[in-house]
Amino acid sequence: MTLPFLDLKAATAELRPELDAAHARVADSGWFLLGRELEAFESDYAASVGAAHCIGVANGLEALQLVLIARGIGAGDEVIVPSNGYIATWLAVTHVGATPIPCEPDPRTYNLDPARLAALITPRTKAILPIHLYGQCADMTAINAVAAQHGLFVLEDASQAHGARCHGRASGALGHAAGISFYPTKNLGALADAGAITTDDPDLATRLRSLRNYGSRERYHHDEPGLNSRLDEFSAAFLAVKLRHLDAWNARRRALAARYLTQLAGAGDLVLPFVPEWAEPVWHLFVVRTAHRTALREHLTAHGIATQIHYPIPPHRSGAYRHLGYTAADFPIATRLAEEVLSLPISPHHPAEQIDSVANAVRSFFGQR
Ligand SMILES: *Cc1c(COP(=O)(O)O)cnc(C)c1O
Repeated sequence: MTLPFLDLKAATAELRPELDAAHARVADSGWFLLGRELEAFESDYAASVGAAHCIGVANGLEALQLVLIARGIGAGDEVIVPSNGYIATWLAVTHVGATPIPCEPDPRTYNLDPARLAALITPRTKAILPIHLYGQCADMTAINAVAAQHGLFVLEDASQAHGARCHGRASGALGHAAGISFYPTKNLGALADAGAITTDDPDLATRLRSLRNYGSRERYHHDEPGLNSRLDEFSAAFLAVKLRHLDAWNARRRALAARYLTQLAGAGDLVLPFVPEWAEPVWHLFVVRTAHRTALREHLTAHGIATQIHYPIPPHRSGAYRHLGYTAADFPIATRLAEEVLSLPISPHHPAEQIDSVANAVRSFFGQR
C-alpha cells in the first residue's frame, strides 16, 4: 500500500529525542515497576481527564475487568454492554463471571442508545458499560440519568476516546470509573500493552491499586486475591511524553476529519460520521458506511489506499460467544453496521494531501456507478 492506514514509525520519529531521554532515564534508574514514572504519569493523566485518581494497569481489558472485580460484580450479575464494538468490553464482563446484556446502538452515532436501556434492566443488573466508539463519547448525560434512576454503576470504556468530550467534560470523568487502553494504535498509544483506570472514588482507587498488584498494599501482605496487572516504568515514561502531545495530535485528527466531511459530502450512498452538538470527538477512526463496502474497499486497495473494518463480526456473532446462542437477527443494528462500516485512514501523521487522495478515490468510486 502506498497510503498506509496508520504509520506508527512516523509517530515515534516525531518524538524520538523525548522518548530516548525517557528510555535512558528509566534504564539508568534500575527501577522498572511501580515507581516514580508511573506515579508521575498517573497524576498527569488524572489531571488531563479531570478525574481525582488514575491507576495504571497492564492493558485496557484488565482495566475494565479490575473495576468489575473491585465492585464485586460476578456470577449471577448482569452488565449492559454495546451490541457493537470491540470484543474486549464483553470479555471483561464474562471474565469476572457476569453476563453481558447487549444494548443496540443509536444508528446515527454507533454508540449505545440510552433509550433502549430501561427495557434491559432487571433485578440482576449491576452496571452499564458504554464504549466511546471510534473516538466519540456515548450520550453520557442520558446514560447517567438512567443509571441514577436504577442505582447502577457506570463504567466507561474510554479506550478509543482519549481527550474526547461530552458537554465539555472529558471521557474518563463521565461515569463512576473508566477503563482505558493505551494499546499502540490508540490516540494515546504506548510502545507496548498498557492501560489505566480513572475514577473520583478514593476507596475504589485504593482497592484497585491493591488488586493490580497481587491484592497487596504492603509487601507480602495479601488482603485479597489480586492480579498482576502493572503498568511498567518504561511505558509510563513514554506515555507521559506522548500525553504532552495528545491535544495537538487530536487537533490534527480533527482537521483531517473536517476535510473528509467536506469532501465526501453527497458521495453516493455514503453515510458520514454524525456528531451531536454536545460532542467533541477525537477521531480515533473515521468510519463511513455504504451498502457497497466490498467494492469500495477493493477500489481503494487498487488505488494503493489501506482501509480497515471496525468490526466485521459483532461480539454476539463471535466464536467466543457462540454458546450464548444469539443470531444475527437478535441485534439487527449491530449486524448491519458490521456489514457496512469501513474505516478510512486518519492519524496525526497523515498529511492533508493524503486525505484528499483518499477522498478523491472514494468520490471516483461513486462517480463510476
Ligand atoms: C483497544 C480496546 C480495548 C482493549 O484494550 P487492550 O489494551 O488491547 O486490552 C478495549 N475496549 C476498546 C473499545 C478498545 O478499543
